[in-house]
Amino acid sequence: MLQIECISIFDMLKIGVGPSSSHTLGPWRAAERWLAELKRNGLFDQITSVTVNMYGSLSLTGKGHATDYAVMLGLSGADPEYTPIEDIHPLVQYVKDNQTLKLGNEKKIIFDPDVNIIFHRKFLPFHANGLKFEAQLTSGIKKSKTYYSIGGGFVVVEERKNAKKKKDAFNAFPFPVQKGTELLAFCEQEEKKISEIVLENERSLRTDSEIDKEIKRIWDTMLECMYTGCHTEGKLPGGLNVKRRAYDIHKGLKGNLSYENPEEWLMTIRQTEVKFRQILQWVSCFALSVNEVNAALGRVVTAPTNGSAGVIPSVLMYYMVIENHGGTMEHIKQFLLVAGEIGSLFKKGATISAAMGGCQAEIGVSSAMAAGALTELLGGTPEQVLMAAEIAMEHHLGLTCDPIGGLVQIPCIERNSMGAIKAIHAAELALGSDPKEAKVPFDKVVQTMWETAKDMSSKYKETSEGGLAVGVYLSDC
Ligand code: SF4
Repeated sequence: MLQIECISIFDMLKIGVGPSSSHTLGPWRAAERWLAELKRNGLFDQITSVTVNMYGSLSLTGKGHATDYAVMLGLSGADPEYTPIEDIHPLVQYVKDNQTLKLGNEKKIIFDPDVNIIFHRKFLPFHANGLKFEAQLTSGIKKSKTYYSIGGGFVVVEERKNAKKKKDAFNAFPFPVQKGTELLAFCEQEEKKISEIVLENERSLRTDSEIDKEIKRIWDTMLECMYTGCHTEGKLPGGLNVKRRAYDIHKGLKGNLSYENPEEWLMTIRQTEVKFRQILQWVSCFALSVNEVNAALGRVVTAPTNGSAGVIPSVLMYYMVIENHGGTMEHIKQFLLVAGEIGSLFKKGATISAAMGGCQAEIGVSSAMAAGALTELLGGTPEQVLMAAEIAMEHHLGLTCDPIGGLVQIPCIERNSMGAIKAIHAAELALGSDPKEAKVPFDKVVQTMWETAKDMSSKYKETSEGGLAVGVYLSDC
């Protein structure tokens, strides 16, 4: 029987800390998992020292993507979802200043980041983002484990041949899908929208109230993130001297509007008259705000990655403030269900890791997710939803990842506003088209993206060894 992986939308949309899902959230979670495993095996109390080895892209752009911060935080027992943002820098500074780390927030060990975090330039064969944790135990034995951060905050260990698959990870959904055609077949058979099929799948994992609670938490985090980005001025950390632009754009747009919190802000914007140029400005402002917060190690929703975290909230916000002033949590839920499902189809059929596929795997996928979700909310059929996702990806094919200085800032921040605008445009094109006349099916674009990813030089896969990253220098900025 064909094994179809079941990916919840809540695995595609995770709450975490910037700037990168593969280079920050993934390594952070890997550190947590490794400590948990040592605890389960009764070895935690025996640890006297820890070394972390970074490989491939995690090594080449790890400093700019705060991978060193992430592993220190993970080893210190901080949780990326709940640790207050204001505690992050002091926690890392404590380790640096004292060369001491409180492992799992329980026991102190000597840990000098300059010595105990090693950046190897070489790539491990299994995946471009490898990291190996090594512990020295009191017994004299060394324990080590290698993890791979495969994009979007997902972490895996290399599978042994013939290893038993985790039972609930496969074939647990009532409507398991590997491809777009299978999803459309279920929609036709059940006479349901894509969001309804996806909701049935989620119900096999959680109760309705748990689903609604998680959707609300995700939306609250997105809204808070946009609000914070729109109300924070200054420059981003890292040395590129990038000015935060969402603040100025937002200031120009809001004029004399007054409000006290994110909810009031949303209601107030809804009541303003906007022309096309202002729509572009609002959407850009929402997208930039998220990625400026992300670049400053703030809290964002990985969607499907941190580098591309601005596309989905900005397109959803576009729906809420431009398209439907009466939009409710039900609309938000519908949008996120469709977006999450489209993201998982790209993860199953191609990749959501820039280290494997360049920026088409991040901004391209997020734009496709947002385009499809918006299309359903605007009344599109399931076929038009996948057509919109296809159009959005088709015009991101071949997009490279070449962040200057290894920082998730240039071209990343602006690229989110481009991905959002393309998503809205793709939705409009699909809504005005007959999917039967489409020449490029959704599954074909997924496959083409993967083929393009495999052909792409590693210089353009999150290594900062090509493109803008070598054409523009930190000293120029
Ligand atoms: S260029 Fe694209 S893929 Fe690369 S780090 Fe920036 S947003 Fe992510």
